[in-house]
Amino acid sequence: MIKKCESHLKYDEKYICIHITRLKEEGNKFSCHKCLNWKKSNDFVKSMEELEEEAKENLVKYVEMQTKVINSNNEMKGKYIESITKLYHKLNQYFENQQKAINSSIEQQNQILTQNINQANQLLNQQSVLDLQSIDKFIIFAQLNQESQKIIENKYNYINDCINRQFNYEFAEFQSKVNQFITMEFKFDNVPKYEVEQFKILTVEKKEKLPYCSEHQIKKKWICIHQDCLKEQKQNFLCSDCAKVTHDQHSKGNFIKTIKKIKNEQNEKLKIIEEQYQMLKKESEKKIDQELAQNQQKQQEIFENYLLMRENLKVLEAQSIINPFNQDKQYIYSSIDQNLLSYDSEMINLEFQSKLEQLELKKQHITTITKDEFDQKCKSIEEQKENQKNESFKLKQQMQYEIQISDIMQK
Ligand SMILES: [Zn+2]
Ligand SMILES: [Zn+2]
Ligand SMILES: [Zn+2]
Repeated sequence: MIKKCESHLKYDEKYICIHITRLKEEGNKFSCHKCLNWKKSNDFVKSMEELEEEAKENLVKYVEMQTKVINSNNEMKGKYIESITKLYHKLNQYFENQQKAINSSIEQQNQILTQNINQANQLLNQQSVLDLQSIDKFIIFAQLNQESQKIIENKYNYINDCINRQFNYEFAEFQSKVNQFITMEFKFDNVPKYEVEQFKILTVEKKEKLPYCSEHQIKKKWICIHQDCLKEQKQNFLCSDCAKVTHDQHSKGNFIKTIKKIKNEQNEKLKIIEEQYQMLKKESEKKIDQELAQNQQKQQEIFENYLLMRENLKVLEAQSIINPFNQDKQYIYSSIDQNLLSYDSEMINLEFQSKLEQLELKKQHITTITKDEFDQKCKSIEEQKENQKNESFKLKQQMQYEIQISDIMQK
C-alpha cells in the first residue's frame, strides 16, 4: 500500500533520492516528491517503478557480467585441459615407443638365437651322418663338449650383462626424471580468490556547499590540508582571509587549497598512480618471465650436457671392460697363445693398470666436450698410454735380457 504524505496530503509517498548524500546505510523509505524538493533535472530521485525497473535492469547486466566471467574461465579451463591432454598423449606415445624399443632390441637378439636353434634342429631332424655335406657339421657339434658350450654361454652372459647394464642406466634415468616430474603439480595458492559480493549502500556525510564568511563577506572555498588541522578541525571550510589569520604557518607552507584544486590534484595523482601501477605490473611480469626463461634455458643446457655425459660414460664403459688379452688370439704349437709369450705376470698387471689409468684420464673429459671430441680425446689418451706402456715393457725386456746375459757370463 502506498501511503499519503502527512505534510502534503494529496501526494503519494512513492519517491526516493538515491544520491549518496541523501541515503542512510539502512532503513531508507519513500517520500512524496514535494518533500524531496524534486526538480525535473534531478536524476537521483526515483519513483518506485523506476527504482525497481532500473535495479532489475542493472541486476540483469550484473548476472550477464558474472556469467561472462564464468564463460571466459571455462574457455581458459578448456584451453589448458586441451594442452595437458596433448602433453599426456605425447608422453604416452613416448612410453609406447620405449616399450617397442625394449621389445625390438631383445627380439633382435632372440632372433639370432632362434636361427642357431633352427640350424641345430635341421641337423637333428633331417640330416644323417651318411650325408656327405653334413659330415663337417656333425664333426663340429661332436666337438662341442660341455666345456666349449660353457665358453659360448659365458660369451652370451657377458653380452646380456652389457644389455642389462644399459637398461639399468636408462631406467635409473627414467626413474629419476619421472620422480622429478610427478612432484611438479599445479599450485595456485598465490592467486587471489573471488569473493561473494557483500553489497552495501554507499553514503557520505553531506557537507554544506561552500558556506559564506559573514566576517569577510566572501565564500568559504578553502580548506587546510595540514596533518594537524585534518585531525583537529574536522575539515572546516575557510575563507581566504580567515585562512591567512588562523592558519598563518600552513598558508605559507602551501597547505591551504581550494576544494577544486585539491580535486584536480587528486585526479592528477590518480592518473599517475594508474600509469605507475601499469608500469610496475608490466615490469614485474617481464622480469619474472625473463628470469624463468633464463632458468629454463640453463636447465635445458645442463640437461643436454648431462645426456652427452651419460652417452660418453656408456662409451667409456664399453671401452674399459674390453679384456686386452681376449683379442685376436693366435695359437702356436697347438695351444700356446703367442701374444701371452711376451708377457710375464708383472707385465699383465701393468697392462690392466694401464687400462684403469686410461679410464681415469678419459673420465676427466666426459663432461666438457662433445661426443666426437670425446672420441678423439680417448684415442689420444689410449695412444699416449700405449706408448708409455710399450716404453716400460721395452725397458723391462732390456733389463731381463741383460740379466740373462750376465747369468750366462757367470756360468
Ligand atoms: Zn511530502
Ligand atoms: Zn572569513
Ligand atoms: Zn591549518
